[in-house]
Parts: sequence; C-alpha cells; structure tokens
Amino acid sequence: MSVSFDLNDLDELTSNAKQIQDNLLKEILTLNANTGYLRQFLNGSSVKELFKKNVPVVRYEDVKPYIERVANGEPSDVISGKPVTQFLLSSGTSGGKQKIFPVNNKFFEDMAFITAQSSSIISKHIEVIKQGKTMTFYFARVPSTTPSGLPVSFVRGGYLTSEYFKNESSYRYTSPNEVMLCSDNKQAMYCHLLCGLIQRDEVVSVAAPFACSLVGAITVLENCWKELCSNIRSGHVSEWITDFTCRDVVTNILGGPNSELADIIEEECQEESWKGIITRLWPQTKFIQSVITGQNAQFIPMLEFYSNKLPLISPIYASSETMFGVNVNPLCKPQDISYTFMPNMSYFEFLRADDDEGNEGDIVDLVDVQIGCYYEPLVTNYFGLHRYRMGDILQVSGFHNNAPQFRFVRRKNVILSVNVEVTTEEDILKALNHATDHLKSSDLILMGFTCYADISILPGHYIFYWELKAKKVDDIVKLDNKVMVECCCVMEESFNFLYRKVRAKEGSIGPLEIRVVQQGTFDSLMKLFISRGASASQYKPPICINSSEALALLENSVLARFFSDKVPPL
Ligand code: AMP
Repeated sequence: MSVSFDLNDLDELTSNAKQIQDNLLKEILTLNANTGYLRQFLNGSSVKELFKKNVPVVRYEDVKPYIERVANGEPSDVISGKPVTQFLLSSGTSGGKQKIFPVNNKFFEDMAFITAQSSSIISKHIEVIKQGKTMTFYFARVPSTTPSGLPVSFVRGGYLTSEYFKNESSYRYTSPNEVMLCSDNKQAMYCHLLCGLIQRDEVVSVAAPFACSLVGAITVLENCWKELCSNIRSGHVSEWITDFTCRDVVTNILGGPNSELADIIEEECQEESWKGIITRLWPQTKFIQSVITGQNAQFIPMLEFYSNKLPLISPIYASSETMFGVNVNPLCKPQDISYTFMPNMSYFEFLRADDDEGNEGDIVDLVDVQIGCYYEPLVTNYFGLHRYRMGDILQVSGFHNNAPQFRFVRRKNVILSVNVEVTTEEDILKALNHATDHLKSSDLILMGFTCYADISILPGHYIFYWELKAKKVDDIVKLDNKVMVECCCVMEESFNFLYRKVRAKEGSIGPLEIRVVQQGTFDSLMKLFISRGASASQYKPPICINSSEALALLENSVLARFFSDKVPPL
C-alpha cells in the first residue's frame, strides 16, 4: 500500500484547517460514541459542544485502566470504535515510565502520509533527492505481545513491518528491509554502515529518526571502520553477523571483493581529524535528516562537525499518540525550526501553558492559538485517546495558511531544582549551547551529557555529566582546567534570574559541577536503557537522570570534576 502526496494538498489542508478539524472530530466521536469510555460522558452523542463540556482532559494514568483492559483481552470497544490491532510503546526515556497506546492500521497510514508529505516538501527544496538513496539508521525489534496476544512494538518498528513501509523502501534506502528488521541492534547498525559504504556514491542523504542515533552511528563507524573495510576488501561479511537473512542480503549487496573501495574508505578514515567525515565518505550527500529539536538539539554541533555543516533537516513532529506536523521550511536555521500541524491527523486542542507555576489556562482549538503563546497539545485520536495531555510544551511561531506552526520548546516534566528555582529543559539546553560555544576554542567536542540535581549535601547543586572527545581521532582528551571551569561559569550565567539570585545572594545553590566521564559511557547508558525496554530507534538520552542505576553507571565512569569558581552576575 503506498501513500502519495501532492504539494497542492498541503495548501488545501492548511487553508481548510478549521473545517477539517471539525469534520474529523465529528468522525471520531461518531466512531467512538458507544465505547465504554466515551459513553459515560457523551451518552452516544457526537456534538462538539457536548464533547468540550463533558469529556475530561486526561493524563495517561486516567486512561491506563481502559487501555489495559483491552490489552488484557476485553473487546476493543472498551476504548475504541474500530478494532485495536496493536499497541505502541512510547520511548519511555522522555517521560520516565513506559506507556502503551492502542492503534490500528490507520496510525501507519497517517505515518506514511506525513512521511510522503515531508519528502515532497524536501524534494521541492533539494531537487537531487529523487535520484539518489538515503542511508538510514532505522531499527526494529521483535514485538512483544499483550496478554491477549496483540503485538506491542515501538512506532518505528510497527511502521517498518506495516504494508505502508514495505512498498516504499526497496529503492529509496541503502539498507534492505532485512537489515532494518534485524532484531539485534548491534548487527543491524554494522550492516547499515556496510550497506551505506558499499553504495557510497548513490547516497544523497543520511537519516535517522532522532539525531542521537546518527551520532551513535558515527561512533560505531569510528570503532569498526577497519573491520568494515576488511569485509569490503574480502567480499565476506564478518562472522559475528549471525542473523542469516540479514547476512545473506548484505553479502549480496557486497557483491564480491572490492579492494579499490576499501582503499578509498581507509584513506578517509585514517585522516587525523574526522571533521566532515560524512561528506568525505558519502560525497554526494546533500543533507542530513533527523529530529534536531528538543533534547536532540544538543547533537547539532557534532552533526555540523561531522558533516561540514550540511543542511540539517528536522522533518516531522510525531509521537506514539499521533502524528502532529511537518517542517514546511526544511532549510531554515536550527533555531527557527517549527512544525506546521496537519489538521487531518487527530483533533488537536491546546492548553495555555505560559505560566511556569503550573496554573492552567484556557483550552483553544487548533486555528485559535495565538502567535508567541505557549501551549500543551491535547490529542483526540481515532484509537481511544480523548483530550489527552501530551506533556510537550510548544510555542506558536506563525501560521501556514490557517494552520499554526509550533516551535518545540520542551518536555513538560523535565526540570532541575535544588531550591525554589525551576530550571526547565529549555534552560538546560540553552546553557549547554553557551558552554559548547565556549568549548569550540578547545580541541574538544561534547559527545553526550546529562544532568542531575544533587541535594544529598546542602546547599544542593547541579551536576552535569559530560562525555568529551578530541576533534582529532587518535588524540586523547586533554582537559584544560581553565576551559572547563569557564564552561561551568558560562552555564550558570545563562540560567534564569531566580537561579542566579538564589545562587548569588542567598547561597542556597552550590557551584555548578561538571563531571567528565570516560568515552563510551553514554553508549553504555543507552544500552542500559535499551536493556530496560527503551527502543533503539526512539531512544533519546535523558536530559536529567533520576534512575539510581543510571546514576551509578555514570559515577563509575567519572574521570575528573570541575566547579564553577564565581557566582553568576544578576
Ligand atoms: P515517542 O512516543 O516515544 O515516539 O516519543 C514522542 C515524544 O518525542 C514527543 O512527545 C516529543 O516529546 C518528542 N519528539 C518527537 N518529535 C519531536 C520533534 N520533532 N522535536 C522535538 N521533540 C520531538
């Protein structure tokens, strides 16, 4: 099944946003009017006004019992008018706990729609995309099942096994489906790289759902390039690739010994610096495609370094609950990225969220949001979520025709606080940006970070765990005390007024600390989360750590500590 998209559709959809949203709500309510969940509020009605008046705004905990009843074998109509055919697992590293969401084929149809839409927007800006291939780092794993036998997978895995993906894949990607579906992520990553290297001249873009997977791929390449080259030289795939379907298909792509190609790759990888390695190994690459907003913004400097500043395109805003929107201006600067909401995906409402005290404001429809204001989206989808709070905070940056565009600001519940101050994800990312700017003058590059509010000793203080790497491949990381202390200070200076006030005047916040960890620590952290059930494709390194196991892993890898040596100015 394939889904195509014509750019006129974009105008049509965004111009008629209000009508499309109203029709869609009517359709959802008619479909779900008699579910156990909705009947208690609407008594079978599908009238919008009644929906707004009677249906409560909910969080996951409120709908969890209904979802679990279906997962445990009760009929789908406990929550959904149409049969639930599978469950999607949210990545769980963003909000803490893992959640499951009921869906059916329509979810993947929407995903195919938004993917097709984003591709046609990008190809309008970058012509070449139509001819070449994309080297993607997509991963799936064998789905688990609910007690009632329905599959439970991550969004990407669900999509990769859906009919919608099967038709689009073979000619567009350097990796065959067998590699994407290989349930061993380590083998899959190696084979993705091998397939990409063999077809290096056809690669016009490099992609992964989130930027952290791309940086992870480069790290694996750094560790494995000699082995990859030896496979290319001999025409044999390494023995440890034991997934036979994957092995056979990659051997076929390899097509026999190729020492000329192995020499070229070796020469590039042996260079002292890996600056621009993406464009050197894949010279036709025109852009990088992956989400670089929200917590993935931390990877922008690394991707710029490895790609010699190729355009970084952050294509869509999506989740396990629904697809939201696309970036209609794909070549804009990272700080200007916004997503235009698609009114045909779900019924969207918005809860005002300007107020950091947590007071809740009015709820407005999609077309009624105001430029500059902050909102949390509420999702009413086809599969049983009604007025569901997403926990993401967005800011309206403009309109495309009548459809609003949103900048992703932060996850709602990610904050640091050791006293009365509240430091949001956005504050943390801003501080990190200042620090990485400062780091540019050194020979170091930040590969990963997370943080933690330590209140075990008073006054409490913020601890940032940093993994650093030398810009030149074989160089060891040399830590310059002055630079590192300055990074601590720069971060503190960029925090909000309340932080600086409590820190400076009242001394109730201690000096910010950076703990430099060994190389590979963030890779181990990812493995820990994946072993606890996180998805390799959807994995987002946690901005703040609150698991004692993860914290112990970090603590065991600390090499050096640095503290801010002055109070930030007010
Ligand atoms: P999941 O359900 O595991 O796919 O995670 C969905 C969450 O990932 C969203 O609620 C956002 O917090 C985050 N996310 C998805 N797309 C983007 C994006 N384009 N920019 C920033 N964060 C995103």
